[in-house]
Amino acid sequence: MSLLVTSAPGETKSTSNMVYFYDNDLKNKTNANVCPHIQFNWVDASGNITRDYDGVKRQYTLAWNESNFSKHDYECIELFEHGSNALKFANYIKRVVGSCAYDPRAGKQVIRADNTKVSFYEHVKHAAALPHITGFVFDWDRTLQVMEGMFGPISLEKWGQYLQMGVEETTEALSEYHAGGKERLQELRDMFEAIGDKPVVIISASKAITLAARNVYEAVLKSWGCQNVQGLHYSQGKYETMAVLESLSQYCN
Ligand SMILES: [Mg+2]
Repeated sequence: MSLLVTSAPGETKSTSNMVYFYDNDLKNKTNANVCPHIQFNWVDASGNITRDYDGVKRQYTLAWNESNFSKHDYECIELFEHGSNALKFANYIKRVVGSCAYDPRAGKQVIRADNTKVSFYEHVKHAAALPHITGFVFDWDRTLQVMEGMFGPISLEKWGQYLQMGVEETTEALSEYHAGGKERLQELRDMFEAIGDKPVVIISASKAITLAARNVYEAVLKSWGCQNVQGLHYSQGKYETMAVLESLSQYCN
């Protein structure tokens, strides 16, 4: 599987250090030119389409609110084993919030420039093994997690109270829920193991990352095996944010 440009044998190729950025929303590629060393990688999700328009292929991400949030609730519940704490959590969300906002297409594949798709996890693992890929930026909603949205005002401890579970059990349940089941949880753990101690930055357009829920993100990332979190940021203009972050500005103009 060829994911990246490789050097021909004998060729000496200077490769400058780069960061890989993964996001399900093509709109977050806006102003990518400000950070020429942070490569945008488009993660597939519902609403990502390519249209032939006047003979020209154009790629789009449709707004999530144009789709029916609760369309996949049954599939969401089916992701979790009978009797598991993750199922207990999913049922709680379904009952109290009304919907899991689950996207079965999210966070599994990367769409390449030629519109072919490859495994998201393998794409990251391949990059992680390259010495010149020195870090990663991930979007959260429908990129790392398969749901859209987090519960901003609710901390890990609060979830524990609601579910009547200890912190450890709560973390496990949330880690499996947000991953979208045991199988994808393992894929994420293998992916983060491959990333090892290379720095990881999370940039989300959801305010939840700044609220009480922030410690849910932190706990879940730790449970997924993410070793070196360099920051959890809220942003409506992701490349502009990267350009001013201390850990990423070196990759930008
Ligand atoms: Mg997203």
